[in-house]
Amino acid sequence: MASLAVLPPERLKKPLAVPSRLLFGPGPSNCPPRILEAGAKPVIGHMHPEIFEIMDDIKSGIQYMFQTNNAVTLAVSGTGHTAMECAIFNSVEPGDSVVTAVNGIWGERAADMAERIGAKVNTIVAAPGRFLSNAEIEQVLAKHRPALFFLAHGESSTGVLHPLDGIGQLCHKYDCLFLVDSVASIGGAPLFMDQQEIDILYTGSQKVLNAPPGTAPISFSERACKKIFDRKTKPVSFFLDLKWLANYWGCDDKPSRVYHHTGPVTAFYSLRESLAVLAEEGLEKSWERHQDVAEYFHAGLENMGLKLFVKEKKARLPTVTTVVAPQGYDWKEITSFIMKTHNIEISGGLGPSVGLVLRVGLMGCNSSKSKVDMVLAALKDALRNCHENKL
Ligand code: PMP
Repeated sequence: MASLAVLPPERLKKPLAVPSRLLFGPGPSNCPPRILEAGAKPVIGHMHPEIFEIMDDIKSGIQYMFQTNNAVTLAVSGTGHTAMECAIFNSVEPGDSVVTAVNGIWGERAADMAERIGAKVNTIVAAPGRFLSNAEIEQVLAKHRPALFFLAHGESSTGVLHPLDGIGQLCHKYDCLFLVDSVASIGGAPLFMDQQEIDILYTGSQKVLNAPPGTAPISFSERACKKIFDRKTKPVSFFLDLKWLANYWGCDDKPSRVYHHTGPVTAFYSLRESLAVLAEEGLEKSWERHQDVAEYFHAGLENMGLKLFVKEKKARLPTVTTVVAPQGYDWKEITSFIMKTHNIEISGGLGPSVGLVLRVGLMGCNSSKSKVDMVLAALKDALRNCHENKL
């Protein structure tokens, strides 16, 4: 018999080392002990009745968080991108027309995903830091007659909170499904899935919810389900096929749930607790807190002579703030200085905002005035110590 050619790695003999950090970037956010401890509870079978109970708790929690009564409401096993693909792969068939609103990178990624499955994709572009008017959206819907219109509510790459009112109604006027990404906004800014006529809504576990990354709540309206369940072709992904997922989550009318994939049960425990925390605080209180803290932060930044990237106040995302990169500084030096000296993560731009901004996320338990004071102090220290005009 051949001997082992690959030996046990030396590096695995070292104990696991994970530092504690203040995560004030655009995500993930810090996880409070209650949520982490939930995830440390014993693994049991993913088809055991206790897990189905927990999944039902999660479903109710998501319905509350999304403000929806949709029966098909569940959490995808995976991150926000998995939910994006679940939404697009199920609701779009090859040859369908799709329009994505691009006001940062998420509309570009949604367009890429729809293109990969053979959709005819058009985009409507807002300048970074800006949002689209309903009139502009109506024009593009009338022109391209899409089956699906994608919009990011919280554009974490540019710090824009896109207004939603009236867009669902416009989509339905043109017989189009309205898909909204709320990964960076849900729980931190008002959103009413049913009243705003959103057909598919998804988010991630690791932002305002303060759960570890790896589960992604998603919900489908009856209108969306009709298109999906009546489609002629099978969705390209077995793993993300909504017929299977709806059964696994007990959202269909079948008498029992069938094995589809092994649900990440410990991630479900954490997600369940994070939804319980949100329900205990109450959505409206959470929205208010994020807004108050964001305004306090923005005033502090302006007092320091820094500028906000999003000019219009009502379009500033309360969860992720984009600060114009201070002139004469290398933004990378600022973020590394703050990490090294203050053990705080903040980040630079992403996509169209690279080099233009610093991004600071204060989400869920991190949305407090004391955390704002810590970031402001760290930023002041960085501006004193990083080398101006070094570029
Ligand atoms: N959409 C938005 C608005 C996001 O901020 C993110 C995460 N930064 C995603 C989608 C993707 O989520 P994930 O990284 O969990 O896949």
